[in-house]
Amino acid sequence: MFTLLPLEDQEFKERCLQYARSVLAPLAKQLGDVNDVPEALRASLADSDIYGPLFPKAYGGTGLSAVRICLVRETIAGIYAPADTTFAMQGLGGYPIVLAGSESQKARYLPELAAGRRLSTFCLTEPEAGSDVSALQTEARDAGDHYVINGRKRFISNGYSADMGVLFARTPTSENPMALSAFIVEKDMTGWNVDWRIELMASHDIVEFEIKDLHVPKENLLGPPGAGFKLAMQTLDLMRMSVGAAAVGMAQTALDESMRYARKRVQFGRPIVDYQSTGFKLADMVTEIQAARSLVYLAAIKKDRADPSATLHSSIAKMYATEAAFRCIDQAVQIHGGMGVVKGATVERLYREIRPLRVYEGTTEIQKLIIANQLLKEAKKNEPLTP
Ligand SMILES: Cc1cc2nc3c(=O)[nH]c(=O)nc-3n(C[C@H](O)[C@H](O)[C@H](O)COP(=O)(O)OP(=O)(O)OC[C@H]3O[C@@H](n4cnc5c(N)ncnc54)[C@H](O)[C@@H]3O)c2cc1C
Repeated sequence: MFTLLPLEDQEFKERCLQYARSVLAPLAKQLGDVNDVPEALRASLADSDIYGPLFPKAYGGTGLSAVRICLVRETIAGIYAPADTTFAMQGLGGYPIVLAGSESQKARYLPELAAGRRLSTFCLTEPEAGSDVSALQTEARDAGDHYVINGRKRFISNGYSADMGVLFARTPTSENPMALSAFIVEKDMTGWNVDWRIELMASHDIVEFEIKDLHVPKENLLGPPGAGFKLAMQTLDLMRMSVGAAAVGMAQTALDESMRYARKRVQFGRPIVDYQSTGFKLADMVTEIQAARSLVYLAAIKKDRADPSATLHSSIAKMYATEAAFRCIDQAVQIHGGMGVVKGATVERLYREIRPLRVYEGTTEIQKLIIANQLLKEAKKNEPLTP
């Protein structure tokens, strides 16, 4: 698959691999389970220049590239999930600024994010608004030279460690009572009170927080008032297939571990890899991984070419890759027998880490809705007009 990519992308992948194996893997061993972004991880990611593909060259990046975003996530997710989350959040919190930021907003924030000097987050979900973004209740009131925001956000990744983020809130007007706007918020603004560090089944910096009279200067409004919904969807559209890439990386690690274990583990006088039932599991795993990887990079290439079908392919890739990776990792645990469920085993960790990927950035069911809608749209476009 990778040999089909342009040479520069293959070289980029090699650099990611080099970083993942020689720097990130030992660091992961040292840090273990975390529910924040430890200073050592923050510094390591910043030193690695890994954030480059999330940002345009003019603002300190190496040029926005969905393919390279996927290459990064595939390479690091199976090694250290907290590094993958930090990388993804830099994209989710940075891309709305790339898309809609004014020149001064871009100049102020993007080089900081590209260099990893600041960490970002993306604050959309609320207690009453998960899949249904239209149920958002957080509201921003126009108060002259600033907005006053009140509400509550839930399941915000990097919410504890981030220095800033993009926050979505209602800005109702008489013409559009449902209007949603996006704001750049900074952690030291008073009114951002993290009151619940949510503990997940796997390592993850994730919080719920109250927003109480958060004063945000007018200059921090991102894009025109009312542009928030479109901005949130466009951002998810870029990052969604990369969730699939992270899933592929996790599944690949599970396959590598299973190959190693199955060749070494002897039962009934033979390595278990000699049993057809193990071989079939490995065959299923590699097939699903290859299929998922192909869908992920197809979606990424389409996104980079601004192909109108990129939204459809991004949802297909996210849905298939996360579901397939879950199946593969489950098989890997089975191949490991009892050792697979021992706390601290790589496949046990992956079994916990893969699960949230089928939920965040749109559940599998929501991906199916998007895919069906896109198909219908396409079918209507191609229908001959009835007389
Ligand atoms: C690890 C993790 C990290 C996250 N990080 C962030 C973040 O950084 N920023 C952020 O804003 N959010 C974040 N989220 C929130 C995430 O996007 C939501 O959890 C997700 O969109 C689902 O919303 P919900 O949890 O409220 O589930 P619900 O929307 O309540 O869904 C519950 C169930 O109902 C199903 N369902 C809902 N509506 C429909 C429908 N119309 N048709 C069929 N089935 C339906 C869902 O598929 C699901 O199975 C994160 C979540 C997790 C778990």
